[in-house]
Amino acid sequence: MLLQRLRRAVPPLVGGGVAWSVYPRELPTPMNTVLDIVAARLRADPTLIWVDDGTPEVLALPGLPQPVVAWSRRSLRTGLLIRTVLLTDGLPSRTRRELCRQAALHLLAETALRLGNPDLAARCGAAAFLDRDWAAPHADELEAATDSEAHLALWFFALAHEFGHFADPRPHARGPLTDASVRTMLLAAQHHDAHDVVGDVLRRRPLRPADVRAETVADLFAADVLVEAAALLLPGGGHPVRVIGELLLAAGVVAAAERCRGLCALLAGDARSDHLTYPAATTVRSAVLRAHLAAVMADRYSTGRPSPTPGLQRWDRIVAGVAEPLEPALDLLDLAMADAVRHALDDTLPVEHLLDRLRVQAGPMLRAEARDFVHLVQASGRHGQFLDELVFILG
Ligand SMILES: [Zn+2]
Repeated sequence: MLLQRLRRAVPPLVGGGVAWSVYPRELPTPMNTVLDIVAARLRADPTLIWVDDGTPEVLALPGLPQPVVAWSRRSLRTGLLIRTVLLTDGLPSRTRRELCRQAALHLLAETALRLGNPDLAARCGAAAFLDRDWAAPHADELEAATDSEAHLALWFFALAHEFGHFADPRPHARGPLTDASVRTMLLAAQHHDAHDVVGDVLRRRPLRPADVRAETVADLFAADVLVEAAALLLPGGGHPVRVIGELLLAAGVVAAAERCRGLCALLAGDARSDHLTYPAATTVRSAVLRAHLAAVMADRYSTGRPSPTPGLQRWDRIVAGVAEPLEPALDLLDLAMADAVRHALDDTLPVEHLLDRLRVQAGPMLRAEARDFVHLVQASGRHGQFLDELVFILG
C-alpha cells in the first residue's frame, strides 16, 4: 500500500530516471539506530528512501500516512566538501570563499535540474566547473564510517532535520518560539540581510514567524536525535564539545543547502519555501540551536552534585566557546552562498560566454565531477540549448 504510493510520489521528488529504494529497517546498522530514535521521538515509523545518485539533497515527502524522507548518498560528498573547505588549515579565505561558491553553484545547478529549469542549470553548472581545478573529496571511506562526531553529523544531521519537519511545532509555538519572540530575534538578526541578494523582487510575501519556527523546530529535533545517537554509536558516547561543534557546523551547511533549494524553487515560481532564502532566518535558527544545545548538555551531563556554577550557565559558556571559532567559517559560507545566488540571478552575464571559456578549460581534474553531472542531466531527460552544450563540453 505504502510502496504503491511511494512509487507515485518519489520519482517526481527525486527526479525521473534516478534510482531509489526503501531502506531495509531490519539491518543492524547505525542508520537504523538513528531511525529508531526518530521513530521513538515522532511516535511513528519513519521510512527512508535511499537515493544512490540524484541531486545531493535530503527531502521530506509530505502527504503520506507516515514520515518519509528521501536521502541522497551524494549529500555526504557535498557536506564533506564544504566541511573540508571551511576547516582545512592554511587556505586563504579568498580561496575558501571561491571553493564554497563553486560548490553552491554545483548544488544550484543540480537542484535547478531537478525542478525542471534547464537554463538555470546550465548557467550555474557552467560557472560551477569554470576555473575549477579541484575535485570533491572521496566519499568512499565515509560510506562506511559513522564512528566520529564529524561522520555522525555528516551522515545524519540533514536526515534528522528533514524528519524533524514531521514533529509537532505547536508546543514550541506556545513556549520559547512564539511569533512575538521569533519576530524580536529576526529584528536583531536583520543586519545579516546585507547578504540577502534574493530581495523582495522575487519574494511575494514577508517572512512569516511560523516558517522560521518550522525550520528551527526541525533543527532542534535533529540536534536531539544526534546527541542521543552519539551516546549510542560513538566510542565512549562521543565527546560533548566535539558533538556541539559538529552539530553547529552541520546545521550551517544544511541551512546553506536549503537556501539553494529555496532559491531554485522561487525561480521556478514556487514560493512555498521562500523563507529558506532569508539569511536572518538562518541566524535565528543558529542562535536558538546554541541555547538548546546548552540546555540538552546541561541536562545530560548534570552531575547531581552542587557545583559553583549552575549547569546551564556553564554549558552556555562552553557552547559559546565552541561556536565562536566557527563563526568566521559560517560567515564565509554565507558570503559564498550570496556570491552563487548573485551569479544565478545575473542575467547580464551571457551563458554563451561562460560556455566559451569552459570549452577551452575542461581538463582532467574535472572528469569525475563532470561525469556525475552529465549522468544526472541524462537521467533527468531535461534539454535546453545551453544545457545540451554544457553536457557536450563536459561529456
Ligand atoms: Zn528544513
